[in-house]
Amino acid sequence: MPDLIDTLRGIVGAAHVADTEADMAACLSDWRGRYRGNALAVVRPGATSEVAAVVAACAAARVPMVPQGGNTGLCGGATPLVDGRAVVVSLARMKRIRAIDTDNDTLTVEAGCTLAEVQAVADAAGRLFPLALASEGSCMIGGNLSTNAGGVQVLRYGNARDLVLGLEVVLADGRVWSGLRGLRKDNTGYDLKHLFIGAEGTLGIITAAVLKLFPAIRSHATAWVAVPDPQAAVRLLGCLRAECGERVSAFEIVGRPALELVLRHIPGARDPLEDAPPWAVLIELSDAASDAALSGQLEQAVAIACEQGLATDAVIAASLSQAQALWGLREHLSEAQRIEGVSIKHDVSVPVSRIPEFLERAGAALCERWPDVRIVAFGHIGDGNLHYNLSRPLAADNAQFIAETARVNRIVHDLVHSLGGSISAEHGIGQLKRAELLRYKSSVELEMMRSVRHALDPLGLMNPGKVLP
Ligand code: FAD
Repeated sequence: MPDLIDTLRGIVGAAHVADTEADMAACLSDWRGRYRGNALAVVRPGATSEVAAVVAACAAARVPMVPQGGNTGLCGGATPLVDGRAVVVSLARMKRIRAIDTDNDTLTVEAGCTLAEVQAVADAAGRLFPLALASEGSCMIGGNLSTNAGGVQVLRYGNARDLVLGLEVVLADGRVWSGLRGLRKDNTGYDLKHLFIGAEGTLGIITAAVLKLFPAIRSHATAWVAVPDPQAAVRLLGCLRAECGERVSAFEIVGRPALELVLRHIPGARDPLEDAPPWAVLIELSDAASDAALSGQLEQAVAIACEQGLATDAVIAASLSQAQALWGLREHLSEAQRIEGVSIKHDVSVPVSRIPEFLERAGAALCERWPDVRIVAFGHIGDGNLHYNLSRPLAADNAQFIAETARVNRIVHDLVHSLGGSISAEHGIGQLKRAELLRYKSSVELEMMRSVRHALDPLGLMNPGKVLP
């Protein structure tokens, strides 16, 4: 397609179009190295008008497009297919901060700002943008919205979807929808922005967004608490909320095998508690007031939980560095797992009240079939979201186990579905879970999804082969 590539060079400048394998390499595979694709070119527009012209040119040539942000997605959504027919549209040059309105508590940014950059701009204005992910230095706000990212503060502030007031989107035919409204109330028909949030680039390209800001956080308290079992963890959350209300901003569970991976692979990692409890929860309270006596409040709540048998031991951070060390145990889990080797990963959610039943029944079913299965379970239990990763200790057994992924997924996902849960709580569908989506969505849901996709992209050019097969 030399004509199209010349046209793209004319739109964005030759320096911003890559079409050799070496120049495109970083954009052709995903963060986990699970997918590798091919593309006609990688194009990096620098403004919405350029994105619109790129999309119009690709649409005229009937060439598919793959939007790409920081390429940290975990489902292969930003990786082009192997057929090499698509153009990757990278938003990495779209980095302008368009507006900040502290009276309205909004920040308008372009899609290529990294999440860390957005957090820093909010912070400099004395505000908080609460989305927080371990990938925040690389992932971009357009990608965060397109995956409806979650992370560790969903409990208090919601998912990415809850943090957006307006969007600007380039539609599949190159028209621009300017929906950058900073309104908290707007009941004028369908709320179109929500179609594009979580759509993984299959309906259009997000070029800018109006984000909600919150009061900056000035007090924190952090604790690592041993719990006897997941049921106690769920009750402990209820107890904490009754005592501390909205100040509970994070509540993460870590199973013993997960913690052991961090202790084994991450230099300097130390178990905060003696007696190796089977489960622990990482709790954070936070408040906008600088003098909120949060450590005392957390200590009191944990003491009540101990009296009720919901907790057996606890460490409350006495300094910022201790708090960071506790958070480090949670944040290094993905890295520790990567070092340990391949596992079968699940990112599932069920109603919070059903987490204990999920863990009990999934564990029993898996151990019956593979008695030595290692279950690395951790995550956002306060949101009903678990990362549930499975492997077997010996390399040869594990290779065999990985080959049985479909069977393992059936056990885990069927159970999740029967408990009213979701097979993808926060990472999305991408290429990874397309077949699973077909299995678990009802025919009515699938029909509505296909209708929306066809209405917004009748030629099927926006990120084909992702989300819906
Ligand atoms: P990409 O990977 O580039 O793209 C993701 C999807 O969005 C693709 O389908 C792509 O086509 C589409 N897309 C990207 N930009 C646009 C755009 N501007 N318009 C339209 N479509 C677009 N996720 C969580 O939810 N919670 C976590 O706690 C979390 N932790 C993580 C920790 C690590 C170490 C890593 C590597 C990843 C983690 N993730 C997490 C996953 C990932 O970081 C998020 O999904 C993130 O939101 C993806 O942003 P990105 O810019 O990298 O998007």
